[in-house]
Amino acid sequence: MDTTQALVENPETDPPKHRPRFQVVVIPERCKECGLCIHVCPKNVLEKGIKANSRGYKYPVPVRPEDCVGCRLCEFNCPDFAIYVVPAG
Ligand code: SF4
Ligand code: SF4
Repeated sequence: MDTTQALVENPETDPPKHRPRFQVVVIPERCKECGLCIHVCPKNVLEKGIKANSRGYKYPVPVRPEDCVGCRLCEFNCPDFAIYVVPAG
């Protein structure tokens, strides 16, 4: 087994560290792919997704939801009200 590989964090394949405390909700049709939400997130929760909305804009995806601290900077900075954060159920 390659032990160096096992030490590298891989958010795509590693299991969640703990249950997410917040739910980050994206409304794909409102997004214009400006990337502001991705840029301002202090925990690197969001990444540009691979799917596009009907206008061809690739909207963000919360790829590390368990890291979200609920600061709502993504929500406050989105010019199109395309993302919001609520406590996890
Ligand atoms: S609420 Fe804060 S930590 Fe959570 S995704 Fe938005 S900017 Fe990132
Ligand atoms: S800030 Fe809003 S419009 Fe810009 S990429 Fe994020 S969700 Fe889309």
